[in-house]
Amino acid sequence: MIYIHGLLISYCCEALPSLTRERGQDARQQEERNNMAGMGSPSMGKRQKKTHILCRRCGSRSYHIRDSICSACGFGKSKRIKKYAWQNKTGLRTARK
Ligand SMILES: [Zn+2]
Repeated sequence: MIYIHGLLISYCCEALPSLTRERGQDARQQEERNNMAGMGSPSMGKRQKKTHILCRRCGSRSYHIRDSICSACGFGKSKRIKKYAWQNKTGLRTARK
């Protein structure tokens, strides 16, 4: 009897918050749809500002126009080309001589 009673209580307590949670999620999803929060085709229309242009030194589109620093190779910041050991996997690093 006690076990059944406990089950009933737990069922009632869990059922109500889950309903409210579901409603909240639906509202959030609708808001996301309205704001076009996805990173797919709809958000491509919002890309009107240029922050990075082609880098003169490394050729990647990482040269920041206002900061005049390349985020890929460090052009405008240092003479040496920016690179880190963690960019390659360990096996590749040791194989190269
Ligand atoms: Zn660069």
